[in-house]
Amino acid sequence: MSDANPFESLQEQVDDAAAYLDVESDVIERLKHPERVLELNLTVELDDGSLARFKGFRSQFNGDRGPYKGGIRYHPNVSRDEVKALSGWMAYKCAIVDIPLGGGKGGIIIDPTEYSEAELERLTRAYATELRPLVGPDRDIPAPDVNTGQREMNWFKDTYETLERTTAPGVITGKAIASGGSEGRVEATGRSTMFAAREAFDYLGQDISDATVAVQGYGNAGSIAARLIEDLGATVVAVSDSSGGVYDPDGIDARAVKSHKNETGSVTGYEGTEELTNEELLTLDVDLLVPAALENAIDADLAEDVEADVIAEAANGPLTPDADDVLTDRDVLVVPDILANAGGVTVSYFEWVQNRQRFSWSEERVNDELETVITSAFDDLVDAYESKGLPNFRTAAYVVAAQRIADAYAESGNWP
Ligand code: GLU
Repeated sequence: MSDANPFESLQEQVDDAAAYLDVESDVIERLKHPERVLELNLTVELDDGSLARFKGFRSQFNGDRGPYKGGIRYHPNVSRDEVKALSGWMAYKCAIVDIPLGGGKGGIIIDPTEYSEAELERLTRAYATELRPLVGPDRDIPAPDVNTGQREMNWFKDTYETLERTTAPGVITGKAIASGGSEGRVEATGRSTMFAAREAFDYLGQDISDATVAVQGYGNAGSIAARLIEDLGATVVAVSDSSGGVYDPDGIDARAVKSHKNETGSVTGYEGTEELTNEELLTLDVDLLVPAALENAIDADLAEDVEADVIAEAANGPLTPDADDVLTDRDVLVVPDILANAGGVTVSYFEWVQNRQRFSWSEERVNDELETVITSAFDDLVDAYESKGLPNFRTAAYVVAAQRIADAYAESGNWP
C-alpha cells in the first residue's frame, strides 16, 4: 500500500506518454487537468430525524470526444484528488477503447455500511438533485463504481426524470434491467479483464488455460474476472478482500468462494484454504495477478517482490508510477486499467445506445461486441508499443488514447 496521490499519478502517466506524442505541450497541459470540478455539501435527514452532512464531488475531466462519462463512488477515502484522477482515467479509458465519450467521475465521502437503505436513498437523491443541471444523456452520464450499483443508479435516474418531467434512461448507466439497464453490464468489467489477460498471454505465446491466478479484491470486478478466467481453464489459487485472503495451491472454486463471501461477508474462512495477507497474495508465485481492489495496492517496494508474469488491472490505479518503473525493468507485462477494466464503460456505452434507440440487445450481442472492442483496442495498443518502441503497455495505451483526444480537440477549431 502506498499513499501516492492518484491525481499526481495520472499526471505522471500522461507526461510519460507525452514524450512520444505529436501534440504541443500546451495541449498536453489541457490533457492533465479536469475541465471542472464540483464540490458539494449534501445535507441529509437520518432515520432518527437528525441531519448529517456529506461531502461529494463530480469531476468533468474532458469532453472533447463526447459527453463526460464515469461512475460514482461511495467510500470513506474519496477525496477531491481521487475523483479528479478517476475522471482522467475515464477520459483515457474511453479513448483507448474508442467509444465516443469523455471522462468524468463522482464520489461521496461515506462508509455506506453505516447507513440504512432509506438514508442512502435520500443521499443519492440529494446528490442527483444537485447534479441535475450538469448531467444528462448528452452532457454527463454517471454509472456505478465502488459501493454503488443498480439500486443507486435506479434512484438517480428516477430523481432526474421526475425533476425533468421526462423519461431519459440514458442519463445514467448500470441500471437494473427493468429500469432500462443492459444485459451483460454487471459482468462487463470482469469480462474485459478476462479478455485483456487472454490477449496478453497470447501476445507472450503462452496459454492462459495453464496459468495460475491470484485476485486481490473480490467485489464485482474481481469475482467476475476470477470466474471467467477460471472458465478459460486457468487455476485460481488465491483471492482476497479487505479482511484478508485465502490460498489453495490446488485451486479455489471462484464461484463457491463468492457464495461464501456473500454469506459471511468475506472470503476468509473459506474451507480447505490457508489464510494469507493481501501483501502475500500480491507477491505469490503465480502466472497472472489481477489487482481488483483500490488504488496504490502495489508500490515500488512491493513491485520488487512481484512474481507474476502478467498483471491485468481490474481496479483503477492499483500500481503507483514507481511500481510501474520497477515492473517494466523486471519484464512483468502489465495490461493497464484503462484497457483491462474498460468493459464496464464499454457496456455502459452499449446501455446508453440501447436507451437512445429504445431497443434492447441480447446478452450474446453485448458480449460479442464487447469482445470486439477490447481485442481491437489491445491490437491498437500493441501496434503503438511495437511501432514506436514504447517502454511498456501503459505508456502505449496513453499514447493511443491521448492522441485521439488531442486530435478531437484540434479538429474542433477555435472558439473566439
Ligand atoms: N466505474 C467504472 C469504471 O471505472 C464504470 C464507469 C462507467 O460505466 O461509466 O470504469
